[in-house]
Amino acid sequence: MKYDKPFTNALQGGDKAFREMKNFSKTAPIFETSVFSFDSLEDVDAYLNGDPDLYMYSRLGNPNNRQLETRLAALESAEAAVVSSSGMAAVFAAVMGLMKAGGAVSSGTRIVTSRYLYGGTRSLFFQELVPLGFTIVEVDSELPDAVLNALNESPRDCLNILYWETVSNPGMKAADIRKLTEAAHASKPGKGETGCGLEILVDNTFLSPALFRPLEHGADAVLHSTTKYLNGHSDATGGAVLSREEVVEHARKAVINFGSQLSPFESWLTFRGLQTLPMRMERHSSNALDIATRLKELPEVYNVCYPGLDSLRDSFPLGAGGMLSFDLESSAAAGRFIRGLNMISFSPSLAGLQTTVSYPASTSHRNQSDEMLRSQGISRSTIRLSVGLEDPDDIFQDIQQALKGGEDV
Ligand SMILES: *Cc1c(COP(=O)(O)O)cnc(C)c1O
Repeated sequence: MKYDKPFTNALQGGDKAFREMKNFSKTAPIFETSVFSFDSLEDVDAYLNGDPDLYMYSRLGNPNNRQLETRLAALESAEAAVVSSSGMAAVFAAVMGLMKAGGAVSSGTRIVTSRYLYGGTRSLFFQELVPLGFTIVEVDSELPDAVLNALNESPRDCLNILYWETVSNPGMKAADIRKLTEAAHASKPGKGETGCGLEILVDNTFLSPALFRPLEHGADAVLHSTTKYLNGHSDATGGAVLSREEVVEHARKAVINFGSQLSPFESWLTFRGLQTLPMRMERHSSNALDIATRLKELPEVYNVCYPGLDSLRDSFPLGAGGMLSFDLESSAAAGRFIRGLNMISFSPSLAGLQTTVSYPASTSHRNQSDEMLRSQGISRSTIRLSVGLEDPDDIFQDIQQALKGGEDV
């Protein structure tokens, strides 16, 4: 079942799983099993013929995963979804799914992407996919013209996967996905020929379907690190790929064959967290907008980046999420600031209930030169804030006292 509104989809969307009993538990049980038993060989046949109510082996499918997948699909307006053990597993499965659905091979697949990419995704592309024969093309600019040029330079007999993040991590650059998809679809290299053409894949981790649904804006597939907002409670790692049925089935094969399935317990936790997603995103967004607005007024703070403040804010009428970044005067000032925080903890992930801070130059972007950092839109004094659900006055008070060197303000 799919509803029009995220608030309803988060609580009621997807299959009515486990409802076949007359009187069943209100919440889903955790099917913490590696294998399932069959009553008859007829049932085995039915399973192998695709009966969705039968399961065989948890690597191939599990009721908790199915429950999560159908609800995620309802939320993202997707035909289908497959979950995986991490966001990185989802990136890989999504690329494989699009490549195979398009009838392409790795040596004929070109990934055109932004240089402001999540570090883990960049590592996957350059350390794993390049040796497998993929071509990676990094575009310097967010502007549709630059993307169009990169696509038009493609050989004709090539599948192009345009890979974009709705908001980049940690540079906090928001993309105008509709403009990008319109420009990209206008290029369509090798359109209509097997193994050629264009697929647009969007990493929607930073906004979540509660705020923005790329498939409604021309994307062909979406992926998530469910570790972040979809689960939202910092207690389970996971990922998801959402697209048309054919792509998802190929992505599912990649998850099965590479053994990157989500465990039943992580799936259950993610499903539980997901139900409050729209409510959390509303509060993350209003808190972050409030903090970003106040940070801009502080003399010690430079370069406040929050998509809800910039020219694209109208693209996100429901809110621009909880992530923002800003610069301090120097790396020493960044160190003093982080030491001075009382309530806000330093933890190099994001999207949890509590406000956390991270410092890309010594975590995700460690060992990079100043020039490399700059090329990704950050510096040695960039602080990234994952704004949580606390009272914004308390969040701001902690930031202010830490900026003043830890004294009371
Ligand atoms: C965290 C993250 C990923 C990777 O997800 P994992 O669950 O850590 O594997 C991918 N993309 C973005 C934007 C992320 O923030």
